[in-house]
Amino acid sequence: MNRPVPTFEGASCADSPVLKERGQHEVFCGLTSIIWLHRKMPDAFFLVVGSRTCAHLLQSAAGVMIFAEPRFGTAILEEQDLAGMADAHDELDREVAHLLSRRPDIRRLFLVGSCPSEVIKLDLSRAAERLTKAHAPHIQVVNYSGSGIETTFTQGEDACLAAMTEVLPAGDERQLLLVGSLPDVVEDQALSLIAEMGITPVRTLPARRVEDAPAIGAGSRFALLQPFLGDTALALERRGAEMIAAPMPFGEEGTTAWLRAIADEFGVSDEVFERVTAAPRARARKAVAAKAERLQGKSVFFLPDSQLEPSLARFLSRECGMTPLEIGTPFLHRGIAGPDLAMIPSGPVLSEGQDVERQLDRVRAARPDLTVCGMGLANPLEAEGLATKWSIELIFTPVHLYEQAGDLAGLFARPLDRRARIAGLAS
Ligand code: SF4
Repeated sequence: MNRPVPTFEGASCADSPVLKERGQHEVFCGLTSIIWLHRKMPDAFFLVVGSRTCAHLLQSAAGVMIFAEPRFGTAILEEQDLAGMADAHDELDREVAHLLSRRPDIRRLFLVGSCPSEVIKLDLSRAAERLTKAHAPHIQVVNYSGSGIETTFTQGEDACLAAMTEVLPAGDERQLLLVGSLPDVVEDQALSLIAEMGITPVRTLPARRVEDAPAIGAGSRFALLQPFLGDTALALERRGAEMIAAPMPFGEEGTTAWLRAIADEFGVSDEVFERVTAAPRARARKAVAAKAERLQGKSVFFLPDSQLEPSLARFLSRECGMTPLEIGTPFLHRGIAGPDLAMIPSGPVLSEGQDVERQLDRVRAARPDLTVCGMGLANPLEAEGLATKWSIELIFTPVHLYEQAGDLAGLFARPLDRRARIAGLAS
């Protein structure tokens, strides 16, 4: 059978030295992740304890939600709170009581810390404990930080899931846990493929509803759906669960390798694996090939933003024929990114962290065909004639697994098409 290639034959990026950058970084903060997390958990409310700046960030990032009953909000710290002249805990208790009395549909309340709440050292874990006692058993209150101090936007989800892991019940049942919040339709595809292989029980973190939250213990084996969940992985391991190391399920090859690692852990035969995956693999290969024509032979430069960079570089180099020049990532977690890096031939610069001016100098010197970067850097680079792709789009768009593999390649092809059209108009 056509087994996936788990590593590159020869020197790979897994052995490459890492250029560590510690300078100014330009990324969104962890509050951004509330935009996709609140859709995943319809019984949850995210209460940011922050400033007007935090409220504005959420409102502008979630502008499309303006007509919906919001499931996130900001308890605004006023100047007197920041100066320590008022008891912020009392105010928070009042706000929460008011919110819960108006919204009986809320079953999970996340108290989300911010830069201002961290600067004044507002202890939200104490608040979560107190509010849990006050509103149990109907409401679960969990706190985590979405602050932008030395973090990037995907760490908001990591912090949220790591905090949820701490309050999961204990249980030693052998089970598979899929970790990471994907759109329901994509998560259902993963669950369906795994069910067809006969693996059971399978649970998800986050669970869509609080009553479906998994119990965790020595029998739990977990597969990450996103590469930015390092703290969550550690929290699960502390509870006795074991990670199934695998490339991330992007593209045909990545999805097959991810499923293969799960199948091997649960003793699924090659015949069953082939029967379940053959058709969607063929569909994914065809869909990627249709979009990859535009990407073949082109160079790509990743600025550090989402932590998806090593996985995407693997997909673009192996399935779309692109040449990564630099793979920058905010944090490099070798235990998680290692399987992806092992599939990329050595050559690109591997960098961790950000020193934005120095990185921009390297982009300008390399003049890549495509630069994957944060939104704030894209416009200036476009103005200099460079094609860019916003990395945050890779988080908001369904791009995992077989059925989305063609769309994933298409997301990278589009800016090249646009630039070709602009060049055509100019000539
Ligand atoms: S958490 Fe920090 S970085 Fe994020 S919006 Fe609030 S002040 Fe700005």
